Amino acid sequence: MFNAIMIDKTRTGSRAGLRSVDPADLPEGEITVRVSYSSLNYKDALAITGRGPVVRQFPMIPGIDLAGEIISSDDPVYRPGDQVIANGWGLGEIHWGGLSQMARVHGKWLLPRPRAFSARQCMAIGTAGYTAMLCIMALEKGGIAPGDGDIVVTGAGGGVGSIAIALLARLGYRVVAVTGRDSLTEYLRRLGAAEVVGRSVLTHTGRPLQPARWSGAIDVAGGKILAALCATMRPGGVIAACGLAAGMDLPLTVAPFILRGITLHGIDSVMCPREQRMAAWARLERDLDPALVDSMSEEISLRQAITTAPQLLEGNIRGRLVVSTH
Ligand code: NDP
Repeated sequence: MFNAIMIDKTRTGSRAGLRSVDPADLPEGEITVRVSYSSLNYKDALAITGRGPVVRQFPMIPGIDLAGEIISSDDPVYRPGDQVIANGWGLGEIHWGGLSQMARVHGKWLLPRPRAFSARQCMAIGTAGYTAMLCIMALEKGGIAPGDGDIVVTGAGGGVGSIAIALLARLGYRVVAVTGRDSLTEYLRRLGAAEVVGRSVLTHTGRPLQPARWSGAIDVAGGKILAALCATMRPGGVIAACGLAAGMDLPLTVAPFILRGITLHGIDSVMCPREQRMAAWARLERDLDPALVDSMSEEISLRQAITTAPQLLEGNIRGRLVVSTH
């Protein structure tokens, strides 16, 4: 038997609890992994609290990330003892995920653990960090380079935001961090932000165009904040949009697109092709300081992941939460 967080359907919604699970109940897959670490992402918190429609079948073990060691494999590419990671692919949504001591998965979902990082560090990075890198690769694809002007990062104190700032600063970009928490100024400067500003800098006035300020943007907020970003991009600017922490709506006009030629580049980490994931993790190994990763993450237990999920959705967690499964 192994321990896992299990989400059950109830008459009014769903409920998460820590449970002892029989390995015979694990879902289909060629590979069984002893999970050492997982992480608590925004999506996991939505799943655990039932505040968002993340879980698509019950009962479900949540956890979109996992790191661990293979204990059995019917896939010729992998052998028992191999150290692996997985992010997304429906883990914790349609297939039992990583907030568990054991997981059964498909080989094509796995990546060998990047050598530069421990299993714990891989999960401190997790989907949030890998998504931050996908966002930076989108800016680069759009032709944005260090020296072009300010790059703004919203939700700066959260997981994607914190890692995006550390990466951008290391790559030589001038980063403006947008946060709702004044208390994080020192922390965000330590990660490499040149300027730390409040969310009011991105107030949605409803005007199609506002004074042009940013060359690039990484946005986790969506909603009116993303609309305000579009209206304040410089000509040719690129926004990598990955989140909905402020909302799903997007009250936009076409003006920034047809009068300033801006690009709105959507990021999907879940179904991102394998080659792009490998490229993103290789770039993380090159461009992310492991010591900075350690300094922005805190370790919690499986049980604490359940009690901490509401705080994460309320925006009260700084950086990343690594979940130790033991
Ligand atoms: P976190 O909870 O770690 O961070 C979110 C941050 O957003 C908070 O810390 C807070 O930062 C800010 N925030 C919270 N509420 C609001 C609000 N109402 N308006 C503006 N800012 C707000 O989450 P993650 O970093 O893990 O994820 C961020 C978003 O990105 C989520 O929506 C998540 O679902 C999405 N995501 C999408 C992925 C994809 O593949 N597209 C992959 C990974 C994440 P502060 O207090 O500093 O302002």
